[in-house]
Amino acid sequence: MPVKDKADFAKNILPFLADLEEDEAGPDPLLAAKRLGISPQDMVVLSRNENPYGPSPAARAALQDVPMHRYPDSRPFLEALSRYTGFFPPWLVTGAGMDEIISTICRIFLGPGDRALIPVPTYNLYALATGLCGARPFYQPRTASFAVNPDIPDGVKMVFLCSPNNPTSNALSEDNVQAVLDETDAIVFLDEAYVEFAGKSLAGLVREHQNLVVGRTLSKAFGLAGMRLGYAIASPWIAEQYRRVAPMFSISSPSLAAGVAALQDLDWMRECVKRTVSERERMRERLPCALPSQANFLYLQTGPESRGIAEQLLKQGIVVRDCSTFYGCGDRGLRITVGRREENDRLLEELYMLEKS
Ligand code: PMP
Repeated sequence: MPVKDKADFAKNILPFLADLEEDEAGPDPLLAAKRLGISPQDMVVLSRNENPYGPSPAARAALQDVPMHRYPDSRPFLEALSRYTGFFPPWLVTGAGMDEIISTICRIFLGPGDRALIPVPTYNLYALATGLCGARPFYQPRTASFAVNPDIPDGVKMVFLCSPNNPTSNALSEDNVQAVLDETDAIVFLDEAYVEFAGKSLAGLVREHQNLVVGRTLSKAFGLAGMRLGYAIASPWIAEQYRRVAPMFSISSPSLAAGVAALQDLDWMRECVKRTVSERERMRERLPCALPSQANFLYLQTGPESRGIAEQLLKQGIVVRDCSTFYGCGDRGLRITVGRREENDRLLEELYMLEKS
């Protein structure tokens, strides 16, 4: 028998997955630190829209008593989410980060040959999750102010909205979202990952629109990105489908315990949001090319190419996100997370030096 090689087995890969590109998530801060020969603690990481203050101390304390030999029980987390959102548990679903929620929703509604409308630029995962189901993204440019064009082509099965939008930092108006909902029978996924920084949520629209799913996360305002805690608010009929399709135990017991504790300490979360919003506005005053932001990051429209600026900053130990890898963004967009005051000051200083050089 001849020895079989990779090609004999690789033919089993689903054909629609063969051309899928890996998502480009920006430079890895730990690798960058190693290359620069500086310690990871000295890096200023402003590329991932994390909460620099971390979670409520109660979240860490809650890890103490977690029973690790039992499968996780997600009910206390659902109840805590119910109190936080004002929606009863039948309207709520949970997942290991909003990324898992997005992938699972796509698996319910998209298959080979389907199309999903993605107003760009926006979060790259919508296109990736669409492609993983064999469906194709239909990219539609946003307006000059990064609103969504409500002309939804016929036959589209899903529409992805993001408010505040990553990377452009603007929130969509209720009228804009309502116009999309009025226009389509597709499933509309509204990503509210950054909603706590905007103050106003459109989740209430779920009660009137049985095709609307609002995705949320504890990775941002709650400071729990490493614990992978996402949830969505949707009509019970969608939530039921979700529970059939989603992996049953995808959130670990420590993550669930941390999530419950964080949701019981809203004062901590609100204080993080308050500081971030105040830093955001302070930075914006000093960065004339930054657009108004409703999120925990700023979007800068740069004169020179953004890739060069990001590379220069990286050499100084500051990681920001060059947006040229976002479809439809062009090569002059830079996304900068609002960090702690001293981190923001270092960034402002380096940007000033770059401008002068
Ligand atoms: N949606 C948007 C718009 C995001 O920016 C992110 C995080 N980068 C996510 C969803 C994913 O969040 P999570 O950490 O909950 O998977």
